[in-house]
Amino acid sequence: MHEVDMTRCLLLSLAEWRDSQPSAPMEVRTVHLDVGEFTCVEPDALVTTYAAAVGGTWLERSSLQINSIPLVGRCPRCESTYTPTVTEQYRSPCCSAPLEDILSGRELRIRRIESAPT
Ligand SMILES: [Zn+2]
Repeated sequence: MHEVDMTRCLLLSLAEWRDSQPSAPMEVRTVHLDVGEFTCVEPDALVTTYAAAVGGTWLERSSLQINSIPLVGRCPRCESTYTPTVTEQYRSPCCSAPLEDILSGRELRIRRIESAPT
């Protein structure tokens, strides 16, 4: 379900992008998306959902390219950075401190849109 909502948001963003283009209509080829590992979005599911959602629309010939952003946390006690894992309950390996400061991994944004004149 998460991916369906995501896709809906994405399509709205792309429509805004299209409307903001000053020149002739452009055909979207590839949408490069940054997706953090901590967003609970399954990249494969998102690609599938997107492909289904754009069928028969102006985005029919476009596809998603997902760039996965790793989860990186910063220890609140010693400020070292680490990769939080579920098995460690996201605690820092250095001080076993709970995850408070997320440096990356929550991204969900369009990085780049590849397009060509129609
Ligand atoms: Zn630490």
